[in-house]
Amino acid sequence: AVVFERVNRHFGAYHALRDIDLTVARGEKIVVCGPSGSGKSTLIRCINHLVAPQSGRLAVCGIAARDGRDAVRRIRDRVGMCFQHFNLYPHLSVLDNCTLSPVHTYRVPRAKARATALEYLARVGMEDQAGKYPAQLSGGQQQRAAIARSLCMKPQIMLFDEPTSALDPESVGEVLGVMADLSQAGMTMIVVTHEMGFAREVADRIVFMDAGRIVEIAPPDDFFDNPQHERSRRFLERVA
Ligand code: ATP
Ligand code: MG
Repeated sequence: AVVFERVNRHFGAYHALRDIDLTVARGEKIVVCGPSGSGKSTLIRCINHLVAPQSGRLAVCGIAARDGRDAVRRIRDRVGMCFQHFNLYPHLSVLDNCTLSPVHTYRVPRAKARATALEYLARVGMEDQAGKYPAQLSGGQQQRAAIARSLCMKPQIMLFDEPTSALDPESVGEVLGVMADLSQAGMTMIVVTHEMGFAREVADRIVFMDAGRIVEIAPPDDFFDNPQHERSRRFLERVA
């Protein structure tokens, strides 16, 4: 589903991604971890071209950004994203958040978009909150609504960048539960998180980054119980 080959990205003089090689198969769940500033957000933002790679090759669902004028749009159609903050439009109800893009960008008939939205809101346990505005919801409810909104676009891949790190402990569990359900349903997922319990349970592989490089890629049991690199070990001592 996603192939990075020797992808590099600089910000000015700073080398934020260094020779990234990573292949994520369809249906695979990847958790990306590593210290602050190691390039985790930059890596996943490359996938939907919020950050453009400067060298190497990156293909998403078989599409590379250089494959024609609308390639980036076609990639974004296939990739949903959920961030730490600011996922919902504050001036729209939960339902309208979920139907806005399908109706206005993709010309889905309003009734059909609503039916789809209610179905996904039910999947995240939010069908009874559809008429509320984001400010009337807890952080966990907002994130669950944001996930439903992404799912309304029928993505093939979901990216998550620390979706629970701004939440209270109870909400963290709610959102991780929804993500685990999505994983069970077969979604391809790339998740930046410090929730190591979730990583162990849900991830097929852990990608550990440090200073713009992928230092280690391993199944969770290997990574947590027998990390191969000194940097991974030091990181795990701090977070685990
Ligand atoms: P955190 O755990 O704190 O979220 P991260 O691993 O997600 O960190 P990135 O956000 O990918 O790290 O940033 C990697 C490096 O690139 C950092 O040094 C950051 O300051 C730099 N960087 C990221 N985005 C930009 C940008 N748009 N302009 C300039 N520098 C940037
Ligand atoms: Mg980040």
